[in-house]
Amino acid sequence: ATATIAPFSTDLDDVFISVKTTRHYHHSRLPAIINTWFQFAKDQTWFFTDRDDPYFHNQTNGHMINTKCSSSHSRRALCCKMSVEFDRFLESSRKWFCHFDDDNYVNVPRLLKLLDNYNPREDWYLGRPSIPTPLEIVRQGSESSKRSQKVRFWFATGGAGFCISRALALKMTPVAGGGKFITVGDRIRLPDDVTMGYIIEHMLKKQLTVIDQFHSHLEILKFLNKDTFHDQVSFSYSKGPRDDWNIVKIDGFSIRDDPKRFKSLHCHLFPQASNCPHR
Ligand code: UDP
Ligand code: MN
Repeated sequence: ATATIAPFSTDLDDVFISVKTTRHYHHSRLPAIINTWFQFAKDQTWFFTDRDDPYFHNQTNGHMINTKCSSSHSRRALCCKMSVEFDRFLESSRKWFCHFDDDNYVNVPRLLKLLDNYNPREDWYLGRPSIPTPLEIVRQGSESSKRSQKVRFWFATGGAGFCISRALALKMTPVAGGGKFITVGDRIRLPDDVTMGYIIEHMLKKQLTVIDQFHSHLEILKFLNKDTFHDQVSFSYSKGPRDDWNIVKIDGFSIRDDPKRFKSLHCHLFPQASNCPHR
């Protein structure tokens, strides 16, 4: 038998990982990332925020980017950040743009293995929707065309993470590069991840490829099977009312020491990592 030669081999340096955050969450959310998965992708991961923060600038080797966007949870502020993330990726010469939220745990080796299945010179939009059917919006008619039109499209949930190949990003550049992402968001008045789906699926007619291994806290995370953790690309958590957290069910550190379960996940996936109680 002849050995098959792998057509692509994705290296960590082929990926631009962006994490969206805000000044309000630096202390509550960034340490859980910096102490775990960030250690595997320090040179590839950038945090997009809305304020200069010398402490975290130092903690991340200068990988905090002040987008100068507003620090409100408004649709416009979030689209502004996504726009800066996208433009920074375009400026980098990397093959893949992968966005995550600051409440995501990223299984870095698994992400690389996933990307290795796709050619970055082709158009790829990889992620996971959080709704069972495509989103349907009504675009109001403009001066030139008075009639309103129904538009249906899928979008990858930003809170689960998604990736875009360079080839696709280059095709998006005329409509979404150089800050124009914000203009599109303003036009349809929808959040950043929805705007991304609108640009790719509706404007460019490229389809989302559904990857079930991306996870947001819109899912009930305790239903994820422990035996499959190694195969999952991303995880998340959220704090519900009172002390009712939506978290991955995993043994390890106490809930008190690791309420988000990131440390426990990290040590489950990578027992030899530093900070893990290896024997
Ligand atoms: N976020 C932000 N500005 C804000 C609030 C949130 O940039 O004013 C970011 C936050 O850091 C996270 C994402 O938006 O990466 C989603 O925020 P969150 O998890 O609080 O809300 P969700 O939409 O997931 O319920
Ligand atoms: Mn969230």
